Amino acid sequence: MPKEIRRVGVIGAGQMGSGIAHVCALAGLDVTLNDVAEDKIKAGLATINGNLARQVSRQRITEEQRQSALKKITPGLSFDHFVDCDIVIEAVTENEEVKRKTFVQLCPSLKPDTIIGSNTSSISITRLAAATDRPERFIGIHFMNPVPVMELVELIRGIATEDSTFETTKSFVSKLGKTVAVAEDFPAFIVNRILLPMINEAIYTLYEGVGTVEGIDVAMRLGAHHPMGPLELADFIGLDTCLSVMQVLHEGLADSKYRPCPLLVKYVEAGWLGRKTQRGFYDYRGEKPVPTR
Ligand code: NAD
Repeated sequence: MPKEIRRVGVIGAGQMGSGIAHVCALAGLDVTLNDVAEDKIKAGLATINGNLARQVSRQRITEEQRQSALKKITPGLSFDHFVDCDIVIEAVTENEEVKRKTFVQLCPSLKPDTIIGSNTSSISITRLAAATDRPERFIGIHFMNPVPVMELVELIRGIATEDSTFETTKSFVSKLGKTVAVAEDFPAFIVNRILLPMINEAIYTLYEGVGTVEGIDVAMRLGAHHPMGPLELADFIGLDTCLSVMQVLHEGLADSKYRPCPLLVKYVEAGWLGRKTQRGFYDYRGEKPVPTR
């Protein structure tokens, strides 16, 4: 029997963590939101407030729902606030070392039956689970961006994940109104195994001068009916995350077809990470996005 999830802890108040907190609170669950500093949690809460307000203006939710969702989320700068959580979802930067350190610090604060879920886009769930004291209650729970809009959540079992962990997480995801796709624990799972090489190829297409930023995006929007061009999408995901996923694919599958494009590396080295830093393949500092190449 799946256990009921009532209290959720979210680590990382960036674009994914804030989205996960948003959908959990709207589903009536109590949420504790953590990040490295108070201002990051405040920024996450401001994003959630803005996104809930947009849902009200589009008549997707009522003003009462917005207010009660906001009341459900409390900041938790220390993991001591996670003591009552039934599940804790980690959504920190896509870096294995950072994630492993987070789990080592987190575990002593949790009750023994708390499930830990990682929202990693690509890193081995089995390897991350090994950094915890509970590999059997550890699972990959991969939300899509933007979380309040996208219907899918990938669930990934590590080698030790117990059936009860899987069933409880699956029923929790259904409660959020999302559909589950089950993926095996191989680099980047299903969605990013397919999506990121396409984005990387779009960056190669730019790097080799086959098309301009706008040309490539228009081509894929109008020519393949993608709702966003691949370079716009890369900026939306975050170029640091795109690069990390390509590195995990390249190292994990040892196939040169996954080598990250040097131009992607250059943008990340410049700190031009896409929308979250206001510059990536487009510059977002003005009224309209302007291509940077
Ligand atoms: P982001 O850069 O927007 O947010 C990451 C947050 O983690 C930041 O606020 C940062 O301060 C915080 N953080 C870093 N180290 C921390 C620590 N030790 N403790 C607490 N907080 C810490 O990144 P994001 O796009 O939200 O990505 C987060 C995770 O979600 C990554 O694993 C990423 O691969 C995954 N993901 C991203 C997308 C996407 O489209 N961006 C989609 C699905 C999954």
